[in-house]
Amino acid sequence: MKSSIRLGTFFGIEVGLHYSWFLIAFLITMSLVSQFQATNAGWGPGVIWSVSIVTAILFFAGLLAHEMSHALVARAHGLTTRAITLFALGGVAQIEHEPSDAKTEFWVGIVGPFSSAVIGAICFGVAWAAGWRPGAMPDTPIEGMFYWLGYINLMLATFNMIPGYPLDGGRILRSIIWWSTGNMERATLLAARTGQTVALLFIAFGIFRFFGGAGIGGLWIAFIGWFLLQAAGASYASVALTAGLKDVHVSDVMDRDCETVDGNLNLQNFVEEHLLRTGRRCFVVSQNGQVAGLVTPHEVKEVERQRWPYTTLYDVMRPLDQVHTVTPQTPVMEALETMGRDDVNQLPVVDANHLEGIVTRAHVLQFLQTRMELGRLGARS
Ligand SMILES: [Zn+2]
Repeated sequence: MKSSIRLGTFFGIEVGLHYSWFLIAFLITMSLVSQFQATNAGWGPGVIWSVSIVTAILFFAGLLAHEMSHALVARAHGLTTRAITLFALGGVAQIEHEPSDAKTEFWVGIVGPFSSAVIGAICFGVAWAAGWRPGAMPDTPIEGMFYWLGYINLMLATFNMIPGYPLDGGRILRSIIWWSTGNMERATLLAARTGQTVALLFIAFGIFRFFGGAGIGGLWIAFIGWFLLQAAGASYASVALTAGLKDVHVSDVMDRDCETVDGNLNLQNFVEEHLLRTGRRCFVVSQNGQVAGLVTPHEVKEVERQRWPYTTLYDVMRPLDQVHTVTPQTPVMEALETMGRDDVNQLPVVDANHLEGIVTRAHVLQFLQTRMELGRLGARS
């Protein structure tokens, strides 16, 4: 998920806010306002609104602390977190690699709910120190604020402990199965299945509540279930991809015969004589017999059609020194990560300053499909 609003960098990790976060902030503020209006109407609208808004903002700080705890434990185990994004259903810490062993996965997973539980307990402690007693509703704004912060953070800890991958509880479950069986793929499959089951239960329960008269609250539960269902499927696919591409290098999937074209060629001729005729996606632009850059359909599309006869390949190519390159020995997963970061579909493969070919997302996909079909036929590579 790309973050929409950058909040700054904490502990060297970029923190962002997705627009959908405002929806949950609004819903939390509104439900606190109606809660306080029901139990503490004597505070007056000004105090009720202020307490609700401050509580919602502090909840956001608690959520950030939850994600930050994942990121910091990951860092202690040598894993880099690229960014933390907060969105409608919580937060997500984008850790660059999947943990390589079960113990790391376990500790990175469990520290989040643990942090939320500790924050919740501290908030209840502050409410207690301010005069609130268990079993009673809070009387003063300070009691009210910390009581509800305690409540929300404990809910957050509980929700995240649901054993459905990719929730923290699902990661913990996966790490325990992985730890005891030593089989990461099997552990992922089981945790993802559990995640899907939990998600379907959420959807069924939400729809049941909706028709039972719970209104929007029921739909909200069903929506969380739908989100979990998507996330469980996507996480499983991503782990399966990582497993399928383990030990595969760029040299296994790259295209070695990139066509070389002259940089003085104009786009009109290039499209008619090369792009359309060969169906290739990538061309090497040469200058005095040397590789100067790359041209793909993407660069051509950027130029208006009327200007094609007057634009040369030199004008539109991506100069070789401006694109990230990989070597034939680079693991394919790493090449895919680089493509993702740079938002491109292909990378030139260079070895000792010589262009060896090109690797594209399509090549990787083709490779995976072939492998899957062979796997289904019972062959093993
Ligand atoms: Zn978490």
